[in-house]
This record gives sequence, structure tokens and C-alpha cells, in this order.
Amino acid sequence: MRMLIMGPPGAGKGTQAKGVAAHYGVPAISTGDIFRANISQGTELGRQVQQIMASGGYVGDDITNAIVADRLAEEDTRNGFLLDGYPRTLGQVAALDGLLAEQQTALDAVLVLTADTDELVARLLRRAETEGREDDTEEAIRVRQKVYAEETAPLLDVYRERGLLVEVDGLGAVGEVADRIFEQLPR
Ligand code: ADP
Repeated sequence: MRMLIMGPPGAGKGTQAKGVAAHYGVPAISTGDIFRANISQGTELGRQVQQIMASGGYVGDDITNAIVADRLAEEDTRNGFLLDGYPRTLGQVAALDGLLAEQQTALDAVLVLTADTDELVARLLRRAETEGREDDTEEAIRVRQKVYAEETAPLLDVYRERGLLVEVDGLGAVGEVADRIFEQLPR
């Protein structure tokens, strides 16, 4: 199973990605997690992305595509993967298409979690209190929603046209959303 999980910031991608990836026995790969791990380890990459992430903007395509190409070259992705938070731009879609073509593989599904903006902002502000993520300030949350709408929402049309899109309402308890997801995905 090779799939993507998409949706606006706060829709619960990371949480659902874990369950879906475990179900199919594939690694869940989150570009946001990779960037955060680099920041907390103080790597050169971490230094490069820290400011832009904290502001709520997107890391450049060159850096992001290189990270994903490296990760998808690892052995554990051979029989599948779940990408969480990638691709987010049309340039990243093209890069991923190229990578998969080289491997002579293709995506099986693109899962999208939908939710309304007010609910998303409320969730992220609650998370700010417990997790203290640097990009969960009100200002950065606003920027992230706007950047998603402008840069990433158009990708849904691309994958819809390819017949890959599986849309699931992300509102409700974690278990309820998971049930909705598995109703719609292949076994
Ligand atoms: P969320 O989707 O809830 O904002 P993520 O952990 O997926 O959380 O992403 C956090 C931040 O990491 C993004 O706002 C962005 O700065 C950076 N990031 C993650 N994935 C990408 C990507 N594919 N392209 C560019 N930037 C990314």
C-alpha cells in the first residue's frame, strides 16, 4: 500500500496516519516530524528550517524533496509507505511522481481528512497548551491555514482527477474518524 494522507493543519493527519500505517504494516513518514527531529537535534538542516517552520510557512521544495527522496530510498518502504504532510505543493507532486516512476511504482490512494477552519484553529490552540509546538501560536496557525488553502488545497483536484482521492470527515473522536477511514479504504 502506497498512500498519502492530506488535510489542513489540525485535521488529525499525524494521529490517523499511525493507525492506518500500522494496519497496512507500512512506515508512516511525516515530513513535519523529520524537520522537528532535525531541529531538536540541532542539525544543519534543522537550523535551515527552524525559522520558516516557526512562522508557519513552507520549507522550500528543494530541501523537502531531497528529504523525501532519501527516506523513500530506505529498505522499509519497499512494500509501501504512508506519507503524512507530503506533497504540499505542485512542485512536490511532480517530484514524487518522478520518484515513483523511477521505482516503477504508483500511489494506491490519497486520503484526505476534512474539517472546518474554526474547529481546526480551536484544536491547534488546545494542542499549543499541551505540546507547546513552536508553530501553534495564533499568528502561525493563521499563516498555516492560509498557506494550506493557497498552496496545498489545489493538489486535491490533481489527485481527484487521477481517481485516487478518498475524502473522510475528520470531525469527531479519534476512533470514530478511524472507523470512517477503514470503511472507505481497501482491506
Ligand atoms: P501541520 O500540518 O499540523 O501544520 P506538520 O508537522 O505536518 O503539521 O508540518 C509542520 C510544518 O513543517 C509546516 O508548517 C511546514 O513548515 C513544514 N513542512 C512539513 N511538511 C512540509 C512539506 N511537504 N513542504 C514544506 N514544508 C513542510
